[in-house]
Amino acid sequence: MSAAPHPTADSAVPGTQDLAARFTREFGAAPAGVWQAPGRVNLIGEHTDYNEGFVLPFAIDRTARVAVGIRQDSTVRLLSTYGDQGMVSASLDALEPGSAKGWTKYPLGVMWALRERGIDVPGIDLLLDSDVPLGAGLSSSHAIECAVVTALNELTGAGLAAQDMVLATQRAENDFVGAPTGIMDQSASLRGAKGHAVFLDCRDQNATLVPFETEPAGLVLLVIDTKVSHSHADGGYASRRASCELGAEVMGVKALRDVQVGDLEEASGLLDEVTFRRVRHVVTENDRVLQTVERLAAEGPAAIGTLLDASHASMRDDFEISCPELDLAVDTARANGAIGARMTGGGFGGAAIALTPVASEAKVRAAVVRAFAEAGYAAPDIFTVSPAAGAMRVA
Ligand code: ADP
Ligand code: MG
Repeated sequence: MSAAPHPTADSAVPGTQDLAARFTREFGAAPAGVWQAPGRVNLIGEHTDYNEGFVLPFAIDRTARVAVGIRQDSTVRLLSTYGDQGMVSASLDALEPGSAKGWTKYPLGVMWALRERGIDVPGIDLLLDSDVPLGAGLSSSHAIECAVVTALNELTGAGLAAQDMVLATQRAENDFVGAPTGIMDQSASLRGAKGHAVFLDCRDQNATLVPFETEPAGLVLLVIDTKVSHSHADGGYASRRASCELGAEVMGVKALRDVQVGDLEEASGLLDEVTFRRVRHVVTENDRVLQTVERLAAEGPAAIGTLLDASHASMRDDFEISCPELDLAVDTARANGAIGARMTGGGFGGAAIALTPVASEAKVRAAVVRAFAEAGYAAPDIFTVSPAAGAMRVA
């Protein structure tokens, strides 16, 4: 999937018609419609979500699209253009956590979560096509869920607001899929808008659109997928969460969101050395998100490079969630013209982003590929993303 051609605004329409035509061939009738939802990149604000802090993701120009038809019974038939799982059938009445396998747990989880809310979800036929790379930290799974929830919201006439759809997909991920994720990914996918990032307060879940356009500033945002698996199975994620909870407890606050940069000196006297550095990352990262929002509004993206760099240093040195491949990607991008770069996502692998002048894009790409080869690392996947529209109906 990651080899899929970079989509353009123009390519969306013929692609949509192809998908509807393929649906008709596979299921024997035309779909009721086609809906799409994007993946996301987090511009800044890492490991701040579960500390009730701030994040700043944006919807990207890579989407999952679903063609959906309503059935007259309680059967669900699911097919993806990717992978070799073939058509999967399930019964609505048998849906429960643990009942689905592979990718089908994402659409079925959304159907389950909507039913749990009391929404009368019909049986459906569904064909999925996505150009969001899998497992690269761009949230291909939430793209699927958000496309499905948007489709079902319309088809059932449930009339859910974006915020309710965010919560339904979170319920699907947490309780049906079994992934302890927050609200960032769905919020970006459902509430994102072209040329904007989504400033999200993870305490009250309030979302605000912030102008973020790279092209007029002569910049591109490169994603460098290191191909290092970002599995959190080694307990790194859990131990970071535990450190944050300990830090908040010792500081006497509900969450690290309530600790300000000016409180860090006091914190250093109260906390052990490692916990202090974990806390310092979260506190300074929250501050960097707020500064990024301010600078984007006042000066534009060319002004946020140093904040991206500082975010990476904080994750590398204080939170210790980077890895050699991410550090090499970031350092090489910076040394070859990027104005700011950082790892993005949970850490321990996955992707880095590099905000790069258009004139330096080719040089950065070539230098990163060369540096990875020289270090003996697997070849990275490098592509541009731009802030794009959130979930919507396309046919
Ligand atoms: P991420 O969301 O960061 O990309 P996840 O592990 O959460 O990584 O989700 C990846 C999973 O999403 C895949 O293992 C697969 O089950 C599913 N998936 C994503 N895109 C597709 C697709 N086009 N077809 C089938 N399954 C997909
Ligand atoms: Mg995911």
